[in-house]
Amino acid sequence: MPIATVNPATGELVEEFAPLTEQQVEQRLVRAHAAAATLRATDFDTRARWMRAAADLVEAEVDLAAPMLTIEMGKPITQARAEVLKCAQAMRFYADNAETLLADQPLADPGTVKASAAYTSYEPLGVVLAVMPWNYPMWQVIRFAAPALMAGNVGLLKHASNVPQSALYLDTLFERAGFPVGSFQALLIGAADVEAVLRDRRVAAVTLTGSEPAGRSIAAIAGSEVKKAVLELGGSDPFIVLPSADVRAAARTAVSARTMNNGQSCIAAKRFIVHSEVYEEFVEAFVAGTKALTVGDPLDEDTEIGPIATESGRRELAELVDDAVSKGAVLRCGGSAVGTGGWFFEPTVLEEVTCDMRVYGEEAFGPLAVVHRVDDIEQAAALANDTAFGLSSSVWTTDPDEERFLIPRLEAGAVFVNGMSVSYPELPFGGVKDSGIGRELAAEGIREFCNLKTVWKG
Ligand code: NDP
Repeated sequence: MPIATVNPATGELVEEFAPLTEQQVEQRLVRAHAAAATLRATDFDTRARWMRAAADLVEAEVDLAAPMLTIEMGKPITQARAEVLKCAQAMRFYADNAETLLADQPLADPGTVKASAAYTSYEPLGVVLAVMPWNYPMWQVIRFAAPALMAGNVGLLKHASNVPQSALYLDTLFERAGFPVGSFQALLIGAADVEAVLRDRRVAAVTLTGSEPAGRSIAAIAGSEVKKAVLELGGSDPFIVLPSADVRAAARTAVSARTMNNGQSCIAAKRFIVHSEVYEEFVEAFVAGTKALTVGDPLDEDTEIGPIATESGRRELAELVDDAVSKGAVLRCGGSAVGTGGWFFEPTVLEEVTCDMRVYGEEAFGPLAVVHRVDDIEQAAALANDTAFGLSSSVWTTDPDEERFLIPRLEAGAVFVNGMSVSYPELPFGGVKDSGIGRELAAEGIREFCNLKTVWKG
């Protein structure tokens, strides 16, 4: 895969970049290693000052960064702007809170420990390799970088090959804000060159957001090197609607939950599991809302759905729809590629999907929704869990008993009640099953790349 910006709205090559040579990668590893020692020795106040300066830069440059995201991967410009500003918000959150989140933890109950004092402290691991995807070219990276740098770690970014300009923007951002040279660098390399970097003794750990095969490969290498790995992989999140819910509100939110970011989000709701008592009402409103979406030029302020990021991504979506329809699924709207230039795909809703269809079990990475009918809450929970994934979930009910029943039963890293799944800087984020290992964000996320040191004093 060439390292290149290809505008998905037109299919045109905007700019191609030469991958780094082995010597250039080595230079960056040397710089990262040196920066790790420098950054480890800085205090939280200094790091926070730099992090706030980086947030200021991001905010000041939103009109430069947002169109860059849109041109590289096709998200609507309004969503690109929101992504950039969310990054600044997260940077400020970790600038303000890292010291508290990483404060020494005294031993609450001495038990059998014979010591004058015992506590645990969090120390940075060093250089962390971040293998990142194209779907949120800035947010996915900042979600790792803001807590990691505040903890005193150093980042090496291997970004997706189709978002090199975003990678290069992030490559200079932290240094421009005052962080020591080498604190955060992008490596313009292909996926095949990741293994050598991960095996390098100067790299302490790895985080990957992306597909399950990429995650398995990275985890296997990290395992063989006994290096920490955090994986944030795909999802096929359930969105459960029960009769006690505000069905109109659920249907309205369902449209956004499925189609945000042109449907290319790991925590997008992908399977809508609706109780038969409210099924027709929900589906009518959901299909109407989906049909009403404005598909078009993602640089246009009114556009709600832009193109799929890659031609292969659009082909895979079309194949999922064709497979389902050929086996008896009912197409309620959409289903086809649209437009002459670019990789647009109509927002699509499928009903009557059965387990022999690929879309039942595979992650649909685009504006393709599957709606299932269930007769009771047990069936809803069973269907929600009938997936290899376990990232997030959304439950619509006003009945506390239903809530109490579902929250512990759903095999997912998060449950959002009467709302869509969102990744907030303040909340832990991550999945179970094939959706990943570990957590990003919040106390749990910032501590993933720390050495939890036990201190015992006699
Ligand atoms: P990939 O997992 O292939 O790419 C994500 C990142 O991993 C990129 O930087 C990629 O580099 C790199 N990568 C891929 N394979 C390897 C490997 N074997 N070793 C090391 N690094 C690797 O995602 P795609 O872009 O191909 O998307 C495919 C599917 O992945 C989607 O349809 C979706 O299901 C899922 N996905 C999930 C995301 C999420 O947010 N959880 C985000 C993106 C995709 P390069 O670009 O150079 O190949």
